[in-house]
Amino acid sequence: MKEWLRSIPAVHELQNHGEFLDLLNESQLDHSQLTKQLKNTLEQIRYSIINDQWQGAIPGTTQFIDELFTTMKVKVKKQLSYTIEKVINATGTILHTNLGRARLSKKAIRHVVETAHNYSNLEYKLNEGERGSRHSHVETLLKDITGAEAAMVVNNNASAVYLVLRALAKNKEVIVSRGQLVEIGGSFRISSIMEESGALLKEVGTTNKTHLYDYENAVSAETAIVMKVHTSNFKVVGFTKSVETEELIELTKRLEGVVFYEDLGSGVLYDFRKHGIGEEPVVKEVIELGADVVTFSGDKLLGGPQAGIIVGKKCVIDRLKKHQLARVVRVDKMTLAALEGTLIDYARSETAMRNIPTIRDLLVSLNELDERSKAFVTKLLQRTNRFQAKVFQDASQVGGGTMPDVLLPTMVIALKHESLTAEQLARKLRTESKPAIIARIQKDEFLLDLRTVTPEEEDILLEALQNINPS
Ligand SMILES: *Cc1c(COP(=O)(O)O)cnc(C)c1O
Repeated sequence: MKEWLRSIPAVHELQNHGEFLDLLNESQLDHSQLTKQLKNTLEQIRYSIINDQWQGAIPGTTQFIDELFTTMKVKVKKQLSYTIEKVINATGTILHTNLGRARLSKKAIRHVVETAHNYSNLEYKLNEGERGSRHSHVETLLKDITGAEAAMVVNNNASAVYLVLRALAKNKEVIVSRGQLVEIGGSFRISSIMEESGALLKEVGTTNKTHLYDYENAVSAETAIVMKVHTSNFKVVGFTKSVETEELIELTKRLEGVVFYEDLGSGVLYDFRKHGIGEEPVVKEVIELGADVVTFSGDKLLGGPQAGIIVGKKCVIDRLKKHQLARVVRVDKMTLAALEGTLIDYARSETAMRNIPTIRDLLVSLNELDERSKAFVTKLLQRTNRFQAKVFQDASQVGGGTMPDVLLPTMVIALKHESLTAEQLARKLRTESKPAIIARIQKDEFLLDLRTVTPEEEDILLEALQNINPS
């Protein structure tokens, strides 16, 4: 053992080795950084030798040096690779929160790349040659699409809620129904945000029933906001009553200085109800009813980048824009570009809206999924005989905490490998394929749902399944 330890070359000798110099050149790492990697690697080898666990070549041989540099190359590659990487989502869940929620449209992506690559008129009026506002870029589109008088965009919907409460109701009362004090995604609680904002929460009604008179009785000179939270990720069934938006708007109109605010959560710009999908109100409707301010997410059912969108009466939005906090939660130019690229399609036709992956994937027909799934199985079985496959009808989820009770009819491909269990197969595709493939395991069955897989990704999937290494 001592002999082995003594035979490990010194760091300064290895630093002059051709392999070290090549690696230095290829990796563009600093000399000291690569030396650190070298020292770490040697340290690990010594540790293994001392603990009688060394399985590599014997120190002193040329094979030992070869192995040492091979290990170094792997480490350097890992050190310099991105940790956020592309994955193929074969779960069928469209807004998978753990997989980055919405995928952007091609148009949105092109606009982001252009904007990132160049200078832009982000805060500059080209006609006047003077300072402009970053809010102006998507405001006109949002006004057109939602019918609101004014609009602004912040980092995410959580910050939109915070800004509205802080700017309009600090040290004042906000009336909310007990049935709407929900927790979203395990980390967002209206009551906690309210507390942080300095607004005073006044809960009315009970968990399952809130009447208009509950609100009427709660109103005082200290009331700033009557708030409605769209409980999109949670449903009370049975003996329930909630007061409709219309009635609450009518109530607040009668009250001097009280604002009606609805947090729509997901907030849709496309009416999925006409396809029998869910019960999400379109933002435009809530504005038409006369809501003073409405907030919603950019990357839920809208299908854009992470953002919080605030629309409503001009006098209210102006107060928000002027508030100091608006600067704290402001969005960057890439988000604005991604949002503009997405909204442009909403300002066009129904066909254009289907350029948005979220909308496309939600509306894809069962027939199309059936044809694609069957064609996929045929291709797979032509390439490899290691699988048994069947296609059957199942359901996909929308995800992202939206439309929890909606199950979209879908077709799934169930695959059974000749020697791997469903879990083993899923693990291999997750850890050994590049890009990683995330599938669904349901009742011990390995399932692929092509709803969230593009035709280009299907080829990658086929390739990965064909090349799976069963050992
Ligand atoms: C999702 C959601 C939020 C938070 O939105 P983010 O964009 O994720 O910050 C706030 N309110 C409601 C009702 C939601 O559903």
